[in-house]
Amino acid sequence: MTARFVLSVDVEGLWGLFFVRSYVEDTSAAQAGRRALPAMGTLLAERGMAATFAFVGHLLLDHCGPWDGAPHPTAPRPSYPWYDRDWYGDDPGGEEAAHPLWFARSQALALHAQGHEIGAHGFAHAILDASCVAREVAVFEAAEAQRAAAAAGLPPLRSFVFPQNVVGHADVLAAAGFSCYRDSDCGRTARAGPPGGMGRAASLARHALAATPFVGRPRVRGDGVVILPSSFPLLGRDGLRRVVTRAARVARIEKGLTRAAREDAVLHVWTHPHAFADQGALDDLAAVLDVAAAWARRGDAEVLTMGTLAARARANA
Ligand SMILES: [Zn+2]
Ligand SMILES: [Zn+2]
Repeated sequence: MTARFVLSVDVEGLWGLFFVRSYVEDTSAAQAGRRALPAMGTLLAERGMAATFAFVGHLLLDHCGPWDGAPHPTAPRPSYPWYDRDWYGDDPGGEEAAHPLWFARSQALALHAQGHEIGAHGFAHAILDASCVAREVAVFEAAEAQRAAAAAGLPPLRSFVFPQNVVGHADVLAAAGFSCYRDSDCGRTARAGPPGGMGRAASLARHALAATPFVGRPRVRGDGVVILPSSFPLLGRDGLRRVVTRAARVARIEKGLTRAAREDAVLHVWTHPHAFADQGALDDLAAVLDVAAAWARRGDAEVLTMGTLAARARANA
C-alpha cells in the first residue's frame, strides 16, 4: 500500500513562547524561528512537497492597536493556575516591520505563494484546556484566526493545530469553518501548561534509538471535522537534542513510512521553526525530507497537507 506523509509546522513567533518568561527576556529562539521559516518553505518546495504551516492568527494581522490599556480588550482571556499575567499583556501593538515576532503576515503570504497550506494555531495561542478555559475563548480563537486570514487575503483556513497539542473545545471548529485538527501525539492526552520536563527523557531516547513511530488513520467526527493522527515532533539540535544523530532521524522516518505503508496509515510529523536555528538543524530537516521525497518519487508514498488529507477522509466517509 501507499504510505501517506504529512508535515505540519506550528508558527507562533513570541505568541507560542511568551508564557515561559525567559523567551521574552531573550528573544533569540523566536528570532531564529523567524529566520528559519523561509528556508523551511524552500527546502520543501525544492522537493515538490507541500506542508501545512499553522500560524497563530495574530501573526496574520496587518497591525493592531494602538491600545489605551490592555491590548485587544474585547478578546476573552484564558486563565490558568500556572500563569498570572494578562494573556495579551506582552502584545506590543504596531505592525510587522517594527514587531516581527508578533506579526508575520508577509511570511504566511510567501508560504502560501509557494503552494503550502496555511492553517491556524489559535489566534493568541490560548491553550484550550477545557478544565480551566471557557468555551468562549475557543470560539474566539477559531473565529478570529479565520478573520485574520481573510483580511490577509488568504483562502479560508481548514486546518487547526491546538496550542501545546492540548485538544479542548474541539466542537467549536466546525462552525468556524475548519475541517480538521491535529490530534495529540499517538492520540495521548497532552499535558496542559508551559513546556516542562515530563516524559522528555523517554521521548528523547525514542528519537535517539529511532524507535518505530506511531502511525494512524484520520477519523471523521459526527460534525464532519476530521481528527488527523499525529506521530512525533521533528526535533532541533539545541541542548540535549543534539544527541539524536541525523542517521537516527532519517531511520525513524523510514520506519514510519514503512509502517504507514503496511498499515494503510499516515505518518504525520510536526515541528516549530525555532527548532531550525542553525544550518546543521536545517540539514537534518533536508535529510528527513529527502526520505519522504524518495518514497514519493517511487510512488510508495503520497505527501499531503492536513487539508488535503482531511478532504480525502471526508470524501471517503
Ligand atoms: Zn495585537
Ligand atoms: Zn504552539
